[in-house]
Amino acid sequence: MPELPEVEVTRRGLAPDLVGCRLTGTVVRNPALRFPVTPALDSLVGQDLLGLGRRGKYLLFEFDAGSLIVHLGMSGSLRLLSAATPAEKHDHVDLVFGERVVRLRDPRRFGAVLWQPGRAEDHPLLAGLGPEPLSEVLDGPWLYQATRNRSAPIKQVLMDARTLVGVGNIYASESLFRAGIDPRTSARCLGRVRCARLAQAVRDTLEAALVAGGSTLRDFIRSDGSSGYFQLQHFVYGREGEPCRVCGAPIRCLRQGNRSSFYCSRCQR
Ligand SMILES: [Zn+2]
Repeated sequence: MPELPEVEVTRRGLAPDLVGCRLTGTVVRNPALRFPVTPALDSLVGQDLLGLGRRGKYLLFEFDAGSLIVHLGMSGSLRLLSAATPAEKHDHVDLVFGERVVRLRDPRRFGAVLWQPGRAEDHPLLAGLGPEPLSEVLDGPWLYQATRNRSAPIKQVLMDARTLVGVGNIYASESLFRAGIDPRTSARCLGRVRCARLAQAVRDTLEAALVAGGSTLRDFIRSDGSSGYFQLQHFVYGREGEPCRVCGAPIRCLRQGNRSSFYCSRCQR
């Protein structure tokens, strides 16, 4: 599943080529995504793309009259291709910019392409989202304040988009490992020092993924490769039973809120 770093690298990969360009056409081969694709996509033709933003895992194609909100769902990807490139089976939506096309491929069709007039933040999917983990908001004092009334396990609080947007299961697990915090710890029991360590760990983990995935995904965006997702070396995620890379103890797995949490019982307290 594309996580925040994949979406951000996609944004950085596309923006320099597209911002300032005019949308010259749209193609919807299959509107049946997670939500039906905005019907009148063609009404945007002739408008210039003013910016390419991101909020959480939503990409925002910003036009004068509003924003086209694109979510990659479980399996989606965007590529920048020559407009002459033939579409394949799971290529559902094209945004044509002259000679080039931004093509949404989404085999499982959990993605979304939605038009929001005016401010993108007013869309119901975006309203109420918490701050961005890569923004200046996230630091120790902020996390300390944000968790004072939260008795839920810190792992689930980290993954709650109303608290902090875009920290998915992988990055929550990896951040807690880096910070040395047991994922079951009640959020409000974390003191100032541990909150500062965790805020830094979330930033470091996401930044590391941006660096690691950057070149891979940038190549992918302009190619016909089969996957643009990162192959990161995880400390704990997906490594149940394997030795901890720091202490050698076997990585454990438990269920929290219907999601798998991976952790090292020796490194994380
Ligand atoms: Zn360990």
